[in-house]
Amino acid sequence: MFSKPIKHICILGGGTAGWMTAAALSSKFSNLDIHITLIESEQIGTVGVGEATLPHIRFFNQSLGLDEKHVINATKATFKLGIEFCDWGKLGDRYIHPFGDYGLPNPDYEFHQLWLRQKMNGGAPRLDAYSYPIIAAENAKFHLPEGDANEIGANFGYAYQFDSSLYAKLLRTYSEDNGVQRVEGKVVDTSMDSESGYVTDVRLESGATIAADMFVDCSGFRGLLIELALETGYEDWSNWLPCNRAFAVQSETKGDILPYTRATARKAGWQWRIPLQHRTGNGHVYCSDFISDEDALDQLVSTLEGDAITEPKQLFFKTGRRNAFWNKNVVAIGLSAGFLEPLESTSIHLIQEGITNLIDLFPTDEINHDDVTEYNERMTLNFDRVRDFLLLHYVATQRDDSEMWRHFRSMKLPDSLTEKMDAWLKRGYVIPYEHGVFLPPSWIAVMLGQNLVPSSYDKRIDRLPDADLDNMLSSIKNRTSMKVKEAPLHSTYLSDYLQDAPNSLSVSRMSN
Ligand SMILES: Cc1cc2nc3c(=O)[nH]c(=O)nc-3n(C[C@H](O)[C@H](O)[C@H](O)COP(=O)(O)OP(=O)(O)OC[C@H]3O[C@@H](n4cnc5c(N)ncnc54)[C@H](O)[C@@H]3O)c2cc1C
Repeated sequence: MFSKPIKHICILGGGTAGWMTAAALSSKFSNLDIHITLIESEQIGTVGVGEATLPHIRFFNQSLGLDEKHVINATKATFKLGIEFCDWGKLGDRYIHPFGDYGLPNPDYEFHQLWLRQKMNGGAPRLDAYSYPIIAAENAKFHLPEGDANEIGANFGYAYQFDSSLYAKLLRTYSEDNGVQRVEGKVVDTSMDSESGYVTDVRLESGATIAADMFVDCSGFRGLLIELALETGYEDWSNWLPCNRAFAVQSETKGDILPYTRATARKAGWQWRIPLQHRTGNGHVYCSDFISDEDALDQLVSTLEGDAITEPKQLFFKTGRRNAFWNKNVVAIGLSAGFLEPLESTSIHLIQEGITNLIDLFPTDEINHDDVTEYNERMTLNFDRVRDFLLLHYVATQRDDSEMWRHFRSMKLPDSLTEKMDAWLKRGYVIPYEHGVFLPPSWIAVMLGQNLVPSSYDKRIDRLPDADLDNMLSSIKNRTSMKVKEAPLHSTYLSDYLQDAPNSLSVSRMSN
């Protein structure tokens, strides 16, 4: 397809996507004699939001050899056990989507099925009582997973709430240490090979040109290479996820630093609250068909818990994804690849997926059609499944108190989501996916949290005698609450944990 080995990669853009890509490629390809250039423009800047992450980011950092304490200290991060959803199923509802499974690992039974049986045969407390991360989050407690894998408090996941611009700075230092060449400047033009249509070089405002064999487009929403140059096309998902604007503002933190992100449903969208070490990030994501900009801003600032410390910033977007993520010799990663509102903190994760799949399928010889197809299929599935998961929050609701909520009640859903919800409602079954970030416990948390309760359970678990079921459930519940009682407050744990952490943006790597 492209009979030239790749010796020079040019990454266009120095936001979170650009520097994550530069860090990972420079680390993984260190023995391949590949030169990496990253172009960014301070004048254009970055999108400047994106603070809540998923647990997978820890594995990304580990794969770079970064020391966790250092990352947390350098990015002013806090620990995150999950996301609290307020007012989604109906006004007054509240639930946490935790990072981790319910109960304890059991090869013979799915824990939620045991709970369903107990609930249907006489009652059981809420499923949350069997989730260590939920009970810890509700009590503002945190410690790193510890102990034997079969113990309470050993098996949960956690992520970070961090300053993503500091994260990008840290990765810039890391990448430059690995030999990545950073070029400051604004790209104003692109040249393409007349036969293959491949991008050959980009021209900067200064007149300089940079040629490369492969380009990674991390240029943000506009997609300078993937869209403006190659016209790849965008699948618009506004019919399903109509929110198209946001206001973001930072505020002082009031009270405890909580180990979770909050997403509160509003009349025409939803509002985030993300506690960092030194401040809280807030934002209102909304649909301009259902609320004016003025009212959306007022909704945000009038509900801040602490005083605002920045001017509100407005952002515009269109939900969807590119028709292809890898087109010719351009791979789009980050906002240039597509955008899904940050309700489940998925954007940075999708960057990570893009990078991991690129490394996995990287053409060590020449760009190969099958690898490009495989990359596009994997990324399409990743985006489509996040879309379904986000949509679940809007459609599994009893709310009808505003135009937006009524709009969702009459919506035709993607078949993939209908199948998933039907299987759950019939017998508590969560159809598993090969690709896709959210595993069954996440779907269970949101479906139950939004009041989708199965009408039956999997009868195969009836082989467990009633008394054994009672004992097992009450033991897990009691041990969960005991363990949380003994755990430290998140803020205490964080300051103790960071006492000996390196304090600069220069990179410290894990010792082996
Ligand atoms: C309202 C909102 C809230 C969000 N919250 C979260 C969240 O909580 N969690 C999460 O995971 N994600 C979140 N995201 C997404 C997250 O912000 C992005 O995925 C992430 O910041 C990556 O952005 P990027 O690097 O792709 O683009 P950008 O940050 O826009 O960076 C683009 C880069 O390209 C450069 N560039 C552009 N044009 C040119 C040019 N002509 N010449 C040279 N350089 C150029 C820019 O200078 C910049 O360096 C949120 C997004 C929005 C809109």
